Amino acid sequence: HAKAAGGSGCTSYRAQMRDGLIERLELENDLRAALENQELRLHYQPTVDLDTSQVVGFEALVRWPHPTRGMINPLDFIPIAEATGLIVPLGLWVLREACRQAVEWSNAAGGRPLKMSVNVSVRQFDQPDFTETVAAVLAETGMPADRLCLEMTESVLMTDTEANLEQLVRLKALGLTLAIDDFGTGYSSLAYLRRFPVDTLKIDRSFVERLGMLAGDTALTDTIVRLGKSLGMSTVAEGIEEFGQLAALREMGCGFAQGYYFSRPVPAADAGRLFLEGAAMMETPA
Ligand code: C2E
Ligand code: MG
Ligand code: MG
Ligand code: MG
Repeated sequence: HAKAAGGSGCTSYRAQMRDGLIERLELENDLRAALENQELRLHYQPTVDLDTSQVVGFEALVRWPHPTRGMINPLDFIPIAEATGLIVPLGLWVLREACRQAVEWSNAAGGRPLKMSVNVSVRQFDQPDFTETVAAVLAETGMPADRLCLEMTESVLMTDTEANLEQLVRLKALGLTLAIDDFGTGYSSLAYLRRFPVDTLKIDRSFVERLGMLAGDTALTDTIVRLGKSLGMSTVAEGIEEFGQLAALREMGCGFAQGYYFSRPVPAADAGRLFLEGAAMMETPA
């Protein structure tokens, strides 16, 4: 009896494995096709200057409107793209499209500068010609380098190898800015932070979540903002959803913020309108 149950359990496990594999292969093929057929889209989430309440830029976030599965979340297809190497052409498409769009919006606003942030995964960064690729995109889109920010996670930026540092220095030499995404969730050492040419800390949403609650823990967030200041880096808070969190971050002297409180990531047409209207994203407190 037990043996039979074990056997059938095993079969169903193998069936699950097989279904999972087929699902992955299907997604991989679909993703390749979507990329070739230009079916991927970018949504843009504004970055707000906490001093002026103005939209100073956007983070480009890739979206995949799948013909039968509906909108697929990047957290569900970026890992597949990374595992298969598709992330390299996909990331190049994102970079090119985000730069092209930033130049278009800035021109439409009479040249008002717009900062565009693009997420870069380790597989892209590890390409030996990554710096040349970025330089080529800047040249071809006419994007001024200092308006581009590349976001990478701590694990990418903080790998203490000479090759890694050299790649970062070459990238920085293009004149762009580098941000550590989801800061506080990895394992950056303070020594590396000083050594690596990073401009911006993006404070992970998990810290922001604890702000503005009764007995919310503000100490860690406050520490990160101070750390950024003392290292001459700017700080961007991710995932602001409530006014209390905004007020707390402002009080700490955090420079910039993103989050549903201001705007969700929105399609290009809406983001363009947000930038062109130049509306303040919040009331300036009395
Ligand atoms: P991320 O770079 O940390 O981006 C922030 C994520 O938090 C986005 O999710 C955004 O929609 C979400 N978010 C923003 N504000 C709030 C808020 O107030 N509350 C909550 N609950 N969430 C908020 P999204 O767009 O699903 O992207 C998830 C992750 O996928 C990104 O995290 C990034 O790591 C990755 N990703 C997105 N686009 C790209 C891309 O073009 N290339 C690469 N390599 N990764 C990307
Ligand atoms: Mg990001
Ligand atoms: Mg982030
Ligand atoms: Mg995050």
